[in-house]
Amino acid sequence: MTQTLDQIASCITGYDPNALPVAQAQEFIARLVPRVQAIEQVAIRQALGRVLARDVVSGIDVPSHDNSAMDGYALRGMDLADDGPTLLPVAGTGYAGQQFDGNVPLAHCVRIMTGAVMPDGLDTVVPQEFTTLLPDGRVNIPAGIVRTGDNRRLRGEDLARGEAALRAGRILRPADLGLLASLGQAEVPVFRRLRVAFFSTGDELRSIGETLDEGCVYDSNRYTLWGMLQRLGVDVLDMGVVRDDPAALREAFSQAAASADAVITSGGVSVGEADHTKRIMAELGEVLFWKIAMRPGRPMAIGRIGAAGGSDAILFGLPGNPVAVMVTFYAFVRDALLAMSGATPEPLPMLRAACATGLRKKPGRTEYQRGIVSRAADGGWQVAITGSQGSGILRSMSQANGLVVLHHGQGHVDAGDLVDVIPFDALV
Ligand code: AMP
Ligand code: MG
Repeated sequence: MTQTLDQIASCITGYDPNALPVAQAQEFIARLVPRVQAIEQVAIRQALGRVLARDVVSGIDVPSHDNSAMDGYALRGMDLADDGPTLLPVAGTGYAGQQFDGNVPLAHCVRIMTGAVMPDGLDTVVPQEFTTLLPDGRVNIPAGIVRTGDNRRLRGEDLARGEAALRAGRILRPADLGLLASLGQAEVPVFRRLRVAFFSTGDELRSIGETLDEGCVYDSNRYTLWGMLQRLGVDVLDMGVVRDDPAALREAFSQAAASADAVITSGGVSVGEADHTKRIMAELGEVLFWKIAMRPGRPMAIGRIGAAGGSDAILFGLPGNPVAVMVTFYAFVRDALLAMSGATPEPLPMLRAACATGLRKKPGRTEYQRGIVSRAADGGWQVAITGSQGSGILRSMSQANGLVVLHHGQGHVDAGDLVDVIPFDALV
């Protein structure tokens, strides 16, 4: 059953829309967003980056037989001498992809290739490079080279029949495609792709190709948003720049809500906004205007908006400043869209890096600074902050290779202190 925004807010301890800690905002959003339900069956190569919709259970043992992990000689561990070299005559050869027929007499070995099925009764493989073939045809295995069971892969050790190979909610990666192929599975059920519409608001914005009039800037947010959304594997609908005009905004929001699961806007949600964006958002849906205890990215609108008679879309009204858009996207929108896509979001990997300079920071808000992470002389990580941290300075984001996260309760940082950094390469 769908909860109202007030009901969700009542579940959040210490909910204060005018000074909302990042963690509380994240919890709120996690409770708000619905998950796609529709499932489609796709060929495994089409499944890369998609979200698995059901557990995949192995119908076979992988591998299906005990087999050799090495090129060498297969033998019985009990034939190994305790106190000197072992000398064994060779009873035949086992090739990969062929069943070895015949029984191996006691105190004999079999020349065996990597991946070949272990002949009956043999349990150990000695790698070829440790052995010498004597002129009389016997193999000399020096003492102490192998123990019983070495270099043998067991039937089902990769996956046992009936075992869950992959869990629903997983974003499929290259290794998973290989794993599915190893089960002989041609197709997998995945959730349908999420559809995300986005547009920029602000009368000062011009699109590429237009003349830059006095006092105007080119709209960059649609491009950073497009890039971040592409990396998440959602379907995107770029709706351009929308003028600060009630009818145009109403039309844009309704059309976006009708065609997408989520709508992302940038601009027009700050306190001092003279424009119509906030009013139209509130008019078309159930929307909250937050001031988040973070920097950059303080103002944000969140809620549901609907097209008349249509289903609701989740609204993320991000601030307009280019760096704030990216930071709020990573802090809130990324995980929300992954959850809506049916994925189980994993926490972002963070590095601990020594900060090159001291940083001023007040407890009571989360700060995200742009940093350049590199290897220090001692082999550990170090991070230097990129020049000006103004939330309009997109170049600082482009120069950086990670975001330094100064947590809510954290105070000033001294030069050399360890800080948390999210490397951009971790951000899908
Ligand atoms: P706002 O949140 O609408 O008050 O915008 C804050 C600042 O971000 C203003 O300087 C805007 O000009 C700028 N801004 C808003 N949207 C965009 C955009 N799409 N591209 C570049 N700058 C923007
Ligand atoms: Mg504006």
